[in-house]
Amino acid sequence: MKIAFIGLGNMGGGMAANLVKAGHDVRAFDLSQDALDAAKDAGCATFTSAKDAVANAEAVVSMLPNGAIVRGVYGEDVIGLAPTGAVFLDCSTIDVATARDVISSATEAGYDMVDAPVSGGIAAANGGTLTFMVGGSADAFARAKPILEAMGKAVIHAGDAGNGQAAKICNNMLLAIHMAGTCEAFAMAEKLGLDPQTFYDISSVSSGQNWSMTSYCPVPGVGPQSPSDNDYQGGFATALMLKDLRLAMEAADASDSAVPMGSRAAALYESFDGAGNGGKDFSAIIKTY
Ligand code: NAD
Repeated sequence: MKIAFIGLGNMGGGMAANLVKAGHDVRAFDLSQDALDAAKDAGCATFTSAKDAVANAEAVVSMLPNGAIVRGVYGEDVIGLAPTGAVFLDCSTIDVATARDVISSATEAGYDMVDAPVSGGIAAANGGTLTFMVGGSADAFARAKPILEAMGKAVIHAGDAGNGQAAKICNNMLLAIHMAGTCEAFAMAEKLGLDPQTFYDISSVSSGQNWSMTSYCPVPGVGPQSPSDNDYQGGFATALMLKDLRLAMEAADASDSAVPMGSRAAALYESFDGAGNGGKDFSAIIKTY
């Protein structure tokens, strides 16, 4: 397929390369020349504007920083400029309301579109092992699925437009809550005289077990290899977790949802990020306990 790809940063670069590997004709655009050069090396054709990249595309994939940029790119350079009938896949993490608005504008103009945010970081983007949570009509999902399968290991239909973003922020709010809770429990266990490994051996087979503990333990040297074993480098940056928590708090307000634990986790990550830790893996928050 002829696929335009807009936004070839840390995530989009690897995703576009995987579309090339799957045999697609990928037409890349990014504001950054470095990103475009890397895309060219990966086998993409490169363009100097989004309009040119989408001109003959059967599908458009985007991986952009935020909702305002997604709205601008689709509003100015994609809707009405890509061939009628093309399918659009926005894989960026953005607010639910913007995702629904942009999909509604695209649909009115005769395109199919899904929101398809991802779980998994840069390594998963490079390795083609992302999980996609997808919002949109059944037809739009059916068209998007084979494209997403070339970039991921799981593609799940979450329901109507915007539901992919809803799933993403609810999941990441829960992740922040159980990471903070896991850090809290390890820190208190230690103060009460328990060795962290012993606490892990007990809690990992008891009812406190959770992903932050057994797949991503914030305590160095405990559990499987994780960013804590590498001085909290790599992994999922605190700044990105905070971005998702802010989106979650916005969605909670808009939907009148009570999120006492989520808002506490958001406040903890606000202050951890504000203290200059935005580049560290989000499990480094254990240092504050
Ligand atoms: P990034 O900043 O590395 O990449 C974004 C790219 O978009 C940049 O190359 C930038 O030049 C480009 N860009 C910005 N405005 C543009 C425009 N108007 N037209 C064309 N290109 C434009 O960010 P990233 O880490 O790749 O993240 C992308 C999205 O993926 C974000 O929404 C992020 O929340 C989400 N995400 C990131 C991760 C991660 O681990 N990095 C994990 C899951 C989801």
